[in-house]
Amino acid sequence: MMGSGGFIVFDEDQCVVRHTMTLAHFYNHESCGQCSPCREGTGWMYKILKSIEYGKGKMSDIDLLWDIQRKIEGNTICPLGDAAAWPVAAAIRHFRDEFEWHVNNPEECQKRNFGLAHYADELVANA
Ligand code: SF4
Repeated sequence: MMGSGGFIVFDEDQCVVRHTMTLAHFYNHESCGQCSPCREGTGWMYKILKSIEYGKGKMSDIDLLWDIQRKIEGNTICPLGDAAAWPVAAAIRHFRDEFEWHVNNPEECQKRNFGLAHYADELVANA
């Protein structure tokens, strides 16, 4: 789940954290601010994702992100709140190792994506 009405195909070289951050930024920008879970939560998710993407995240941020999206889902006036929460939930559910890699490799994640690093490690291991 990477959005509310779109279909996006990525290859394995793409950065899931970066794309999730971009989606979170979009929903934060689109929030009208009427209900607090969406108004505050979308901003918090964007801020945390940005921090992880730029190598400043902590392992506890991943659980915090999960907690925030759970508190937005089903608690807003319109579906934008759910649409903002679901991509974050899906990204953590399916690509948690990529989030953890960002936290554990703050410098490397600035230079290359998890997919490429993972592939390179496999090549070295199989050489
Ligand atoms: S969920 Fe809808 S109504 Fe509530 S703040 Fe977000 S955009 Fe506005």
